[in-house]
Amino acid sequence: MATAAKNIQILKEVLQKEGLRFTRQRLAVWTEIGISRKHRDADDIFISIRSKGVKVSRATVYRTIDVLVKNKLVRKLDVGDGKNRFESKIDEEHHDHMICLETGNIIEFYNSRLEQLQEKIALDNGYELVRHVHQLFVRPIKK
Ligand SMILES: [Zn+2]
Repeated sequence: MATAAKNIQILKEVLQKEGLRFTRQRLAVWTEIGISRKHRDADDIFISIRSKGVKVSRATVYRTIDVLVKNKLVRKLDVGDGKNRFESKIDEEHHDHMICLETGNIIEFYNSRLEQLQEKIALDNGYELVRHVHQLFVRPIKK
């Protein structure tokens, strides 16, 4: 199945499970998050959807995002400034985030040694690592 069709099917299943109707507006929210590689807050996502001419309320965008997060289609990032950012979890390789305190830029990174080390730390403490949230807060080096 083509990716777009597959993603629509995934959304339909989630909405059905939640007892919600499949609508153009809800699809627009899912598509908007799915096509972007950015980490945006709910308002940015709302504004972007509206700018494409889709009539949708802020409340619908917020509620749909909540449903997508709850059903693990979208990842919620708490970057410490009170505004959660969102990114798609579909077809994504695992990565962690670096957050620039000056610019708000969010940089993705992956380090296999770090991944293994985290697993080892859990193991050394008698645990199996289930998941992790690893965030680095950074600022540009002044030259
Ligand atoms: Zn990311």
